[in-house]
Amino acid sequence: MLDQPPTAHRTTTVEKGPFTHATCTCGWRGPARRARDRARRDAVEHSPSGA
Ligand SMILES: [Zn+2]
Repeated sequence: MLDQPPTAHRTTTVEKGPFTHATCTCGWRGPARRARDRARRDAVEHSPSGA
């Protein structure tokens, strides 16, 4: 058991060259996408209320 406060899911998108991927404060990282909208959608699917 980890004695830590509940992890908040705050997603952001990171652009790297032609690709964009979503990341979350919980440590999750989405797949690299060519379209930023896709990466943002990954973030919404990961955390519907946090994006
Ligand atoms: Zn998360």
